[in-house]
Amino acid sequence: MNKKIKLITFDLDDTLWDNHPTIIKAEVDTRKWIEGQVGEVEWGDLNDFLELREDLIKEDKSIAWDISKLRKEIFRIKLSHINPTELRDEIVNKAFEIFISKRHEVTFFDGVKRCISDLSEKYSLGILTNGNADIYKFDIGKYFKFSISSLEAKDSKPNRSHFDMALTKVNGVGFDNVLHIGDHQVNDIFAANELGIDCLWFNNNNAQWEQNFKKPDEFSSWHDLTNIISNKYER
Ligand SMILES: [Mg+2]
Repeated sequence: MNKKIKLITFDLDDTLWDNHPTIIKAEVDTRKWIEGQVGEVEWGDLNDFLELREDLIKEDKSIAWDISKLRKEIFRIKLSHINPTELRDEIVNKAFEIFISKRHEVTFFDGVKRCISDLSEKYSLGILTNGNADIYKFDIGKYFKFSISSLEAKDSKPNRSHFDMALTKVNGVGFDNVLHIGDHQVNDIFAANELGIDCLWFNNNNAQWEQNFKKPDEFSSWHDLTNIISNKYER
């Protein structure tokens, strides 16, 4: 018999919107603004970023899940030649404000708003994200009972904190009553699967299943999701 689903949790980035163009633009625009203030900056490449991140985590464990703090610390390092410190901090804080504002310039996938609105009539809905986008900055936020980011969970998916915390947000719900929906094979699907949570895989890129456990049902268009859920759980 199918499970009685009461709560549906959603990933955000690359599940409700295509995150790549948004993040690239936010990054480029923020760097441009910073360089307008202080002149050219040596930004380094991805490896440089990963090394810096590792060093920062060694000094402050919270950097691993507080990605806003991570971003500010990296700006601070890249601007270490700017003095006095007060001026540097002012630029870092303003740059972060610009970044976070641009980071919310997203285009929802076609059908998301209708689907979320429909589902909210039958289920409690929640967000579980490793990112720092805030669903409540959008009109669609009104349909979600809660939103848990890595900052609140003090950990990142695929670890279980987000999912454990989700259960505390809705009365009378266990993992058996949760359906998790996300794009990431590990952070969303593996994570939920490990806890016995049902999941649906959002696969709009025709990606191959690369995990060594059974692929869950997948969907590629938000226009189909309400029907998939009602066929599976409401019969
Ligand atoms: Mg995602």
